[in-house]
Amino acid sequence: MAEARKLKNFINGEWVESKTTKYEEVYNPATKEIVALVPISTKEDVDHAAEVAQKAFDKWSKVPVQKRARILFAYQQLLEKNRNELARLITIENGKNTTEALGEVGRGIENVEFAAGAPTLMMGDSLSNIATDVEAANYRYPIGVIGGITPFNFPMMVPCWMFPMAIAMGNSFVLKPSEKTPLLTEKLADLLKEAGLPDGVFNIVYGAHDVVNGILDHPEIKAISFVGSKPVGEYVFKRGSENLKRVQALTGAKNHTTVLKDADLDQAVKDIISAAFGSAGERCMACAVVTVEEDVADEFMAKLKEAADNVKMGNGLDDGVFLGPVIREENQKRTISYIEKGLEEGATLVRDGRKDDLEGGYFVGPTIFEGVTPEMTIWQDEIFAPVLSVIRVKNLKEAVETANKSNFANGACIFTTNTSSVRYFRENIDAGMLGVNLGVPAPMAFFPFSGWKDSFYGTLHANGKDSVDFYTRKKVVTARYVAPEFN
Ligand code: NAD
Repeated sequence: MAEARKLKNFINGEWVESKTTKYEEVYNPATKEIVALVPISTKEDVDHAAEVAQKAFDKWSKVPVQKRARILFAYQQLLEKNRNELARLITIENGKNTTEALGEVGRGIENVEFAAGAPTLMMGDSLSNIATDVEAANYRYPIGVIGGITPFNFPMMVPCWMFPMAIAMGNSFVLKPSEKTPLLTEKLADLLKEAGLPDGVFNIVYGAHDVVNGILDHPEIKAISFVGSKPVGEYVFKRGSENLKRVQALTGAKNHTTVLKDADLDQAVKDIISAAFGSAGERCMACAVVTVEEDVADEFMAKLKEAADNVKMGNGLDDGVFLGPVIREENQKRTISYIEKGLEEGATLVRDGRKDDLEGGYFVGPTIFEGVTPEMTIWQDEIFAPVLSVIRVKNLKEAVETANKSNFANGACIFTTNTSSVRYFRENIDAGMLGVNLGVPAPMAFFPFSGWKDSFYGTLHANGKDSVDFYTRKKVVTARYVAPEFN
């Protein structure tokens, strides 16, 4: 068998070999096939990319904003044209099904569209008369080189939360994608070049810890956007802040969904199946715990089990497949050990995903526990796999109190037809992204992705106007203009 292709870093508009001798296999998790070898790049690779990005910044930051925006318009067109190919790459390296992959591509494109509004988004404010003959105006400027560190679960959407807005604002960018899903970013870089982005404005350095540390410590990298797990996000936030950088870190989750007795149960089950098992549960917005009102719990559980039994598992490229594999063998083993832990700690296994046909890829079937309590490990930890816990509650108050015990607070959903319940939920739940009668309150380009507690470290979130603030700094000019001859 031919050796898999060795990937290169993208620096100064060229694909260049890393200085490393260490390469890691990139797998198709649905087939266990090796699809590429990714360089585990060195600090020297990061230094090179950061120097190049710094030089590019000097020119790019002075390009008029509408000219920068025009490159993003061209990029949007190219991404649209390559929609199917981008989705295919996502399914191959990540495992999610084609429909989900196309959805991810669409979300990434929306970020590019939002960033193309840079001339309006970058506008400052002014006041003509803050004192006699004195006015003040506030201007926005880019920051410099931005570092982006991204996870495996959204190879397109998450980088697109970062670099389109960062470069639209006049910054340059060094991206370190997940070493598990590097293929899609190759295409993102090629299309940016084709759209006319000057060399050096966008760079990719593939790798792991050394690249992350290189980004965190490099003096020319002024701000860092991180998306990934809680422990790594905490580390990135602390080390980046210690180095006096601006840091935003979007981290892990354990999202609760509440089903009240007045809800449309069929709709709730359909949406919860999709939210819990879609993308193999590897979504920061995945539904991990359901709290269901006792009065409808039996009916809800029967419908949920039946729907989970009908989930089709397999290679996401095949028609009709809903549930793909988890990303690696270690994730599959880790999930199975969580299922064992749930049993040991006394939860009831309503549907055992270990018994499905797991052959061929890193599969885990839809798994449902009942009788889960907040003392259990399966309630506390982010499992990040198709494992759902259900808790019966007396009422909405108990549901909210249960969810609020979690250290995570990324998203939360409610299914109900009672508007007062919606208001109570909104006012009392700890979470930054709320869904009402839907399974996944998905992040949109034009609103901030607003996780709370251990789901986010920083001040300004990704997306929306927060991202404009994060990737710019301000200058306030106060000026006196005296024109006595006109008075
Ligand atoms: P991860 O934390 O393992 O990896 C994220 C990035 O950090 C990768 O680029 C990885 O190479 C790097 N990294 C990993 N370990 C490191 C270490 N010890 N030191 C330095 N760098 C390290 O996350 P993942 O497994 O790729 O992604 C899944 C996680 O991401 C989940 O926890 C999920 O909830 C989270 N996530 C959060 C959001 C959000 O918006 N809050 C969105 C997507 C994913």
